[in-house]
Amino acid sequence: MLLAVGKGSGSVEVWAYDRSGCQCDNACVYDAHDCVVTALAWAFDGYCLYSSGQDDHVRCWVLCGSCLCEVPIPSNGPGLRSSNDLPGAFLSCLGVAVSPGNLVLAMVRNTDAEQLDPMYERRVLKAAVQFFWIGGQLNLLPDNSLDVSKDAFLGFPANELVHWKSSILWSLKKFENPEKPLVTWDIIAALLAFKQSIPNFVDEILFKWLSVTYLDSSVSHSLDDVLIRIPQTLLTATSRQLHLLNVICRHVILSQLMADEINSKANIGPTVADMEHSPLWLELLFISERELRERLVGLSFSAFLTHMSHSAKSSIESGNWSPVGVAQMELWITRNHDHIRVQLKELASEVVKAERRFEPMESGDEEQCIHCSALVPFDSPDVAFCCGTETVNGVLEKHKLARCSTSMQVCTTTPSWFCKCCHRWTSKLAPETLFTMPGYGSDVRPPAESPTAGVQSKALCPFCGILLQRLLPDFLPSASPV
Ligand SMILES: [Zn+2]
Ligand SMILES: [Zn+2]
Ligand SMILES: [Zn+2]
Repeated sequence: MLLAVGKGSGSVEVWAYDRSGCQCDNACVYDAHDCVVTALAWAFDGYCLYSSGQDDHVRCWVLCGSCLCEVPIPSNGPGLRSSNDLPGAFLSCLGVAVSPGNLVLAMVRNTDAEQLDPMYERRVLKAAVQFFWIGGQLNLLPDNSLDVSKDAFLGFPANELVHWKSSILWSLKKFENPEKPLVTWDIIAALLAFKQSIPNFVDEILFKWLSVTYLDSSVSHSLDDVLIRIPQTLLTATSRQLHLLNVICRHVILSQLMADEINSKANIGPTVADMEHSPLWLELLFISERELRERLVGLSFSAFLTHMSHSAKSSIESGNWSPVGVAQMELWITRNHDHIRVQLKELASEVVKAERRFEPMESGDEEQCIHCSALVPFDSPDVAFCCGTETVNGVLEKHKLARCSTSMQVCTTTPSWFCKCCHRWTSKLAPETLFTMPGYGSDVRPPAESPTAGVQSKALCPFCGILLQRLLPDFLPSASPV
């Protein structure tokens, strides 16, 4: 493990820390800057170090053996805009930070007030944040032959594209770790920018990513071939892999479709030009979301059964995740009977038995409209329409209601959370177990010894795995994770 220390003299020291022996060795000292070092940021798992100084320089260092070598920061980037609107009069660099996917470097630079137009610039412009693409910085994966011919990418150096490809694949791989919060705006921004200029390149990256991640690198000939084969493998994919797939599907491939259009399946088909793969991608997204739904329902049923057996012994542990919406989940299973795996149906029939045993008299699982208290039938797990009441004019007025993404129950009060990605509402958070599941496997039960123990601590979307948002008024900027 390396530890970098920036000094007031402008030098950067790198220490090698040995965890086993608890020792620090002073590895190297570098004359990085002329004055005080203001920030240091490691990227790419410590292969790369960015330093900034009061001398307004940002330098990039790459690990060669045990020492650092300075390399230039790449000037090329996808969809690069010229920065004419910036005064170019910076005094010093106050700090640097690397984006979650390690594809973007942000630097804060404060301006030299003397060089600014005193009429307006000097009054408003104290400092600026600049973003640089750094995905072309390093070749991180050993096997990276660029399969598409170089002429396809006019105006972009082929070797930088190789680096971009390896960086994006490296980032996507990093996010398979469920411990790492799923924040993918830089990956999505990079892929979308490349999609504008060199779409073949994006297809190539996705082809490689999908075949390595979901098909164990078994040989496929085309992206379409991969897309057709993946749905059969999703059973063994980790929940995080499914989340990543959903986010990329929605934002990179289907970015022209609105989330609500995707959800209602309304706008499928050839109406949208230039999306040759989209029917396959849409299909993949639906299957992936259904897989997550099955895992969620499975966890809820297991938790319900555990809860039932506990309450029989009258020892309910507080603080455990307790399922809500079991009745709605049963309805969902009935409606999707043909698609749902056998194990889940068996679990469902156990739940029905348990319900009969403990609450033999109870029949009322019907939901009521929060506006007119008419009955709300169960048609879809995402939205519901009440049966409606007649207004004074004799018109039947029906209300559209949101269902909670986790419990499938109609959100009674204002829903607490909103997913920026799939536009679903959530009032009951999903258990943490869902987000760390290594796959459904062929086992009978979801791999959760104590499903009730997984209390959700963070508000995450069960279908996208990203942090949910509290809805804010439009005029407030909100930090979106994707
Ligand atoms: Zn109503
Ligand atoms: Zn999203
Ligand atoms: Zn979502």
